[in-house]
Formats: sequence, structure tokens, C-alpha cells
Amino acid sequence: MPIPFVDLQAAYLEQQEALDRAALEVLRSGWYVLGPQVRAFEQEFAAWLGLPDAAGVASGTDALLLALRACQIEPGDEVIVPSHTAVATVAAVELAGGRPVFVDIRPDSLTLDPDAVAAAITPRTRGLVAVHLYGQMAELDPLAALAERHGLWLVEDCAQAHGASSQGRPAGSVGHIAAFSFYPTKNLGAAGDGGLVASRQPELIERVRLLRQYGWRERYISEAAGLNSRLDELQAALLRVKLRRLDAWNRQRQALAAAYDEALAGSTVATPRVLPGNQHVYHLYVVRSPQRDALLEHLAHHGISAAIHYPLPVHQQPAYRHLAPAGGLPATERAAAEILSLPIYPQMPADHIAQVARCIHQFRS
Ligand SMILES: *Cc1c(COP(=O)(O)O)cnc(C)c1O
Repeated sequence: MPIPFVDLQAAYLEQQEALDRAALEVLRSGWYVLGPQVRAFEQEFAAWLGLPDAAGVASGTDALLLALRACQIEPGDEVIVPSHTAVATVAAVELAGGRPVFVDIRPDSLTLDPDAVAAAITPRTRGLVAVHLYGQMAELDPLAALAERHGLWLVEDCAQAHGASSQGRPAGSVGHIAAFSFYPTKNLGAAGDGGLVASRQPELIERVRLLRQYGWRERYISEAAGLNSRLDELQAALLRVKLRRLDAWNRQRQALAAAYDEALAGSTVATPRVLPGNQHVYHLYVVRSPQRDALLEHLAHHGISAAIHYPLPVHQQPAYRHLAPAGGLPATERAAAEILSLPIYPQMPADHIAQVARCIHQFRS
């Protein structure tokens, strides 16, 4: 039996009745964008984060773009980003008019290296985007201290970290502003695209609300130059149903990751490192292997779908090469050659974990 990387249908089937009912209700209501479902979801998600408010938008990329625009990132402003991330993090900085400045990662957690960030700050630096990669929070305490000292905006990219925490503080509640994605495969996923901006500062959320719909406070009167980045009622209604299950799903991901950790002990792969004080929610379970490509092929040969997040660092991709720092990013480049994401999703059967682990133990390069 082949082992899939994820199974989104399994999540749907778990809540089929409630999801079907929520979808039908929206279809029958005649209200399809930015309505009562979106408002209710914004309030419920903000409460779940322990924040006063949030604004739903059309995608995670837009959430980052609008968060940066709410912070008034302007053309020529430098924004520090990791290169070891989804390209969306970097694309959003350029869409906002900023200049991405790539910085290396810690080799253990694979998140931004605070020392490298400190070294990259110039008089033109206006912000930094900390990506909580794979479900684990970046080291925000030193990053927040740097942001404070240099007057920078600290933006949290929480697209892979719904429910992660550090010393009890949820991802999205530590920086000035945070962006979430509800792309279907994320820990909280819609049946299509969706995103959300959260912040402790109501004026930032207010600004996102303005910008997400042409800068309108009053219909057809643009106070600011905005765009169309609205969240659908259908997606919001489905997300409200799924939000109720999110904490349980994250616990299931943690249990599966613990089973992987145990089953992979003594194998040739290095299992994920969790920084002290962090609760990892395992959006992805990423191991490292010096023979990664051969291992990926070995797994595929045995019907196991693994993947690489991400195979080519952003600073080496054709669209962004011109922004690559001199000397490259050694920890990023090394990680890209060794990382391998194993199958994980909340409904994954426990015997699949055992099968994947057995296959890895059998691997001989
Ligand atoms: C998925 C993702 C995004 C973008 O979200 P979309 O909803 O796909 O636009 C941004 N950053 C990271 C780290 C992501 O994983």
C-alpha cells in the first residue's frame, strides 16, 4: 500500500457533516465575501491567539504583503528575511516595495540566526520577517530585542505555525504583526486560498482592513491605495468548523512526530531539533540525511511519498539571484542539500510511521 505525503480528504471526512452544513448555509445565505462568517472567524481566531483582533485576507502571501504595507514599508526599505523559506515570504517583501535582504539560519532549528540578523542591519533596514518554519517558532527574544534597539518592525510569518508556541506565547503574538495562511495543506487549511493578519495593535489591523478592499472605509471612496484581497464567506465558514479541531490535530501531529523520533533512533537520518521552550506543531516532519537524494528515491521505490521543503534556497532561484549575498548562505545551502520531509498529517495511521521508519532503517547508500 502506498503511503501518501498528506491526505486532505481524511480531514474532510472527520468533520464531513459539520463542513457540509456550514458550506450549504453560506450558499443559501446569498452573502459570499467579507460578511458575518468572516467577521466571526476573525474574532474566533484572534481569541484563540489571545489577541484583540485580526483581519481575514485572500492568502498567506497577501497577509504578509498587507502586514508589511500596514507597517508602511516603502520603496528602498530593506527587510531582512531568511532564504530557507517558502518563496512567498520573499515575494511579499518585493510586492510591498521593500528590498529583501537574505540572512542565514541556525543549523539546528533551521530558523533565522539572530547573530546573522544583527550583522545585516543597516541604516536602511526597516523590518524583519521571522519565519516559524515547519511548525517551530524562530528565536524571537533576541530578534525582538534587535527590532526594539534599531526601531524595526518584527513581522511573524506563521503560515506553518498555527498553534506553535515559545515559552507559552503563541506564534503570532510576540512580534508587531503576524501573517497566517490557510492554504489547504497548512495546519489549519481552507478548501481554497485564505489568509489572516493578526496584531496586538488595533491600528495595524484597522489599516489592513482598509487596504484589503481598495482603501475603502466608506464604499467607493479610497482613503489609501489598496487592493482586492478579501476572504470568502465560504472559506471563513469552513475555517470556523476546522478551528475547533485545530488543537487536537496539532496534538496528533506531535504524537506522530514523537513516534517518528523514537522509531528513527539509530538510523542514518537526523531527526528534527526542537529549541528549548518551544512547542513544535509539525506542519512538516523534516529529517536530514547526507544521502538525501538516494534516500528520497529509495522511499519512492517503496511507495512512500516524501518531499523537499525547499530544494533550492530563494537566493539561488532565478528570480532572486541578483539579491544573493556575497559568499552565499552556508547553513542554508547545506540544509537544502540534506533535508527531507516525511509524510505527516493528523489522521495518518500509526502503522504508516512504523513502515516509513522500517524503510529508512533498510536504506543503504
Ligand atoms: C504557505 C506559506 C506562505 C504563503 O501562503 P499562501 O497562502 O500560499 O499564499 C508564506 N510563508 C510560508 C512560510 C508558507 O509556508
